[in-house]
Amino acid sequence: MKRLLILGATGSIGTQALDVVARAPGAFELVGLSAERSHEALVAQARDHGVRRIAVSDPDAAARAAEAWTDGEVLAGPEGLVRLVAEAGADLVLNAIVGSAGLGPTIVALTEGIDVALANKESLVVGGELVMALCEATGAQLIPVDSEHSALHQLIAGERPGTVERLTLTASGGPFRGRSRAELSDVTVEAALRHPTWAMGGKITIDSATLMNKGLEVIEAHWLFGTPYDRIDVVVHPQSIVHALVGLCDGATLAHLGHPDMRVPIAYALHHPDRVDVPVRTLDLAQVGVLEFEPPDLDAFPCLRLAREAAAAGGTATCVLNAANEVAVHAFLSGRLGFMGIPAVIDATLAQLPAARVHSFDTLYRADAEARRVATESIEVRA
Ligand code: NAD
Ligand code: MG
Repeated sequence: MKRLLILGATGSIGTQALDVVARAPGAFELVGLSAERSHEALVAQARDHGVRRIAVSDPDAAARAAEAWTDGEVLAGPEGLVRLVAEAGADLVLNAIVGSAGLGPTIVALTEGIDVALANKESLVVGGELVMALCEATGAQLIPVDSEHSALHQLIAGERPGTVERLTLTASGGPFRGRSRAELSDVTVEAALRHPTWAMGGKITIDSATLMNKGLEVIEAHWLFGTPYDRIDVVVHPQSIVHALVGLCDGATLAHLGHPDMRVPIAYALHHPDRVDVPVRTLDLAQVGVLEFEPPDLDAFPCLRLAREAAAAGGTATCVLNAANEVAVHAFLSGRLGFMGIPAVIDATLAQLPAARVHSFDTLYRADAEARRVATESIEVRA
């Protein structure tokens, strides 16, 4: 039995992971669950799955959880989350927290030598260099949950070092694929949340609409697989059937295909190195009929370009990019910023905070806080 800890259990990835766990009786012992503030849902999950320890990051919500649930222990605040990771005795931590708040728990798990099934791509966007150094130092493994990176992990697993030349990530193109920059200025929050192929949490759904999600994923792939940025391509593929491709030195290109369903990469990461049955539709290409591919439109979707520029600048730039994006997406979702304001705010924040060397995780926390302050100011000026 693998001792499994699920962080961000109440979210889109978290709930699908609990489904994967429930379908494999005897494979996992759930040693803890966490959420930010949705304490009722979290307590219900703990009851349903016989979990004895939960962490709730919001202190008020944690207090309410402790009143409602006396069958186990409720850890409170960001310190409680750290304690849960450090003390649960987990073999594997699924990090399904959204945003840079996921970095701390990733660091704690890896420092303890615990393998991490990583959905929280922001951990690598913000702290890729130090996170990978931690893996190297402790021998703990990062197993990607992001569908494209799970596909790459599987494709690369069979290849000898030095044979993989290029990585290609596919992007659905989001709900606004094909629109020009001018046609994007007045899109609504509701329209941006209507993703054509994947059902996901709010933040990543907006990231998919701006193509920032693919920019974050290029950075994620760079750190996970040690591939230089000029060898990581992005292609828009509206059907989301092909998840990623690898180009090999002999001219062969391998692709990973399947109907879009996050339970597949989640099951792969949780059961790794085993494979288990996942109840998904069999892929029938004749029925799918057409697979389309096109280049991303960087004029209409500048976030992908901004992510590539921050990646090239290195140091704290991707941390600043991520923090500015989180603040801008939040402002868009709450109606304080237009859709094209998202790249404008990120651009302004990056221009104001030049890339600096990363000496420690503390450098990153400071850069994150500074970028949030500058991005917030930039939004206020525009309002
Ligand atoms: P979500 O918003 O549905 O869920 C987020 C979870 O994290 C919730 O349980 C929430 O309580 C918790 N959380 C949020 N803020 C927190 C904080 N500050 N501290 C502690 N916990 C916090 O998000 P999601 O769509 O499940 O995405 C989770 C991560 O997985 C993201 O990094 C996302 O990019 C990545 N991802 C998601 C999908 C998907 O299909 N949803 C696919 C690929 C990658
Ligand atoms: Mg993805």
